Amino acid sequence: MVAEAFDRKAAPVAIPEQSPEKYYGELVFNRQRMFEYLPKEVYDELLKAIENKTPISRRIADSVADGMRRWAVENGVHHYTHWFHPLTDGTAEKHDSFIEHDGKGGIIEEFSGKLLVQQEPDASSFPNGGIRNTFEARGYSAWDISSPAFILGSTLCIPTIFISYTGESLDYKTPLLRAINAVDKAGTKVARFFDSEVKHVRTFLGWEQEYFLVDESLYSARPDLVMTGRTLLGHESPKNQQFEDHYFGAIPSRVEAFMLDLEISCQRLGIPVKTRHNEVAPNQFECAPIYEEVNLANDHNLLLMSVMTEVARRHNFRVLFHEKPFAGINGSGKHNNWSLGTDRGAMLFSPGKTPEDNLQFITFVVNVMAAVHRFNGLLKASIMSATNAHRLGANEAPPAIISIFTGSQLAAVLDMLENSSDADLSSLAGKAGYSLGLSQIPEILIDNTDRNRTSPFAFTGNRFEFRAVGSSANCASAMIALNAAVADQLDRFHSEVNNRVANGMPLREAILSELRKLVAQSKAIHFDGNGYSDEWKEEAARRGLDCETSAPLIFDAYLAPEAVEMFDRTGVFSKVELQARNEVKWEMYTKKIQLEARVLGDLALNHIVPVARRYQSMLVDNVVKLRELYGHGADDLTSDELRTIENIARRVSAITRTVNEMVNERKKANAISDQRSRAIAYHDTIAPALNVIRRHADKLELLIDNEMWPLPKYRELLFIR
Ligand code: ADP
Ligand code: MG
Repeated sequence: MVAEAFDRKAAPVAIPEQSPEKYYGELVFNRQRMFEYLPKEVYDELLKAIENKTPISRRIADSVADGMRRWAVENGVHHYTHWFHPLTDGTAEKHDSFIEHDGKGGIIEEFSGKLLVQQEPDASSFPNGGIRNTFEARGYSAWDISSPAFILGSTLCIPTIFISYTGESLDYKTPLLRAINAVDKAGTKVARFFDSEVKHVRTFLGWEQEYFLVDESLYSARPDLVMTGRTLLGHESPKNQQFEDHYFGAIPSRVEAFMLDLEISCQRLGIPVKTRHNEVAPNQFECAPIYEEVNLANDHNLLLMSVMTEVARRHNFRVLFHEKPFAGINGSGKHNNWSLGTDRGAMLFSPGKTPEDNLQFITFVVNVMAAVHRFNGLLKASIMSATNAHRLGANEAPPAIISIFTGSQLAAVLDMLENSSDADLSSLAGKAGYSLGLSQIPEILIDNTDRNRTSPFAFTGNRFEFRAVGSSANCASAMIALNAAVADQLDRFHSEVNNRVANGMPLREAILSELRKLVAQSKAIHFDGNGYSDEWKEEAARRGLDCETSAPLIFDAYLAPEAVEMFDRTGVFSKVELQARNEVKWEMYTKKIQLEARVLGDLALNHIVPVARRYQSMLVDNVVKLRELYGHGADDLTSDELRTIENIARRVSAITRTVNEMVNERKKANAISDQRSRAIAYHDTIAPALNVIRRHADKLELLIDNEMWPLPKYRELLFIR
């Protein structure tokens, strides 16, 4: 089996003859298609609605639906689906065909505006945290006109939000759109301090998706990978990433063929994928697009994950998005490069050429720092999950503490700002602003090379990079919390500055003095040192940053009074929604650990232990025979073997004992009805047992005859040839 897997040749890729310009976006109902398939007047109305975020009339919807259908049918499509992001990993679709009765006993193909705009999928089985008890189990999906429809396989997909009968969000898109609006509103008010013509502030996201590839046949022989997405046991390979020869190394031809196929498939769907490279761990890779507005970027990330799963299968690979599929080597993240910009073209985290631009830059940067400081526990909760918990805090990923890396030059500017006196500030209010050093900021970015890989949230020259996001996560979770927190902070900043101005302070001075206050207040969040070190954990605790490491307790941050109030003020989540979502988070956490416990229990008792015992009997048999042959003369010859026999026996009994204890703990935990307490029990008593079982099983892997070992080993799983 192994040899066959390694001998596979790269699957042929149908490389289009045209350049990407020709096929880019050909599967998207984009502006060009809208123009082609919609009456001029409908096209204008639709664009206006997209631009101003206003609803469209039923008449326009009918016409758009008809145009979309004609385009889709011309492309061989006969089904459509509302495509949404429920509170699970991934996306949901329920397909319907375009057929309707024609009233004469036959059928016609039809797609009405009503069906385009809103539907009621009977999706009562999606997680909802108790919002929809069965008698009001209706959930509605409604078209998000800001994200274009696209063709996936033979289905027209219409991006939608998913809400309950009573209006609560049951998905990721609804609160994301609300957070985008909140940051637009508050950001615009602040941006107008610098440019009175600003009408909108936009949010951008450029994600970097890390993933592993595993040969399909080896994957199929690992029930843990198939069921949980990660290896629950497996001893480290002697060679792993210690030579750092994989990172940015030559891409194996089989993988390159996969990547090319993936890129073409993505570009046809209008996903602007641009960068690809090997990552640090063997078999680990990364893919990144050109950044886009966050709502579209997030749809594209989710779409990429589905497409990648399909394309991998075409190449006899399985793609792993799990944050920690293999112990002992790097896990996978999804860096969220995030920035804000105005409709006038200013990028708000990019320093400009004039002191005025730089004051705007410093204003937005300092407000982000203040927001991340105020809500550091919440931001950690936004990226936490049962799977990402393996990565955070481990020694190759950001720690389970949120801090901001600024780089030395920006740090110097912040220092200067903080240490200037009131007198300095009032003299800076005029032209003297130059002396603050703000005018020197442009130089900073030319040489912004001191990147810090250990920071969970880093300033990287023209954007912030939220690196702690997990590779399997929906980016929306992080983007909702971050944008809402920043919106709230910007709003507060706007009122504070206005208060000062109302009391007679000049605007520039009011801005500077408020910034100075914020820099001093949020100092604790700024850390440019080594985030992996133990000293940092102690220091962070002293600074009052959230240092909780237990996932179920980290989720509490969503229900802390400051968070509930902030989400209420920004209109992103109601308290009911927050409570319901936390129920889902705790439940998901429990289910994931429960599944791992079941799978590992089975692997341990039915795969590992029987083989260990069989091998042990062979050794015992050998010892007995040697004794028969040599009598006491065999003592010398059998002493090593006897030690191995004892070692195996001890480990086998430790495994069986721990599995039994774990089963008992599970029974106890399952009897707890409160989701939060049950998740805590799974975290405290069941998750640790997984590690104990693994430790013994991995030792057995080293002791037992290679021919008998029932699972593919790391050294086979990790090196694609
Ligand atoms: P690196 O690995 O060096 O961080 P990559 O090229 O892999 O960089 O990815 C950087 C990502 O950041 C890309 O998706 C890129 O489009 C995105 N990006 C660049 N500038 C911005 C910006 N101003 N706002 C948001 N994302 C950005
Ligand atoms: Mg990056």
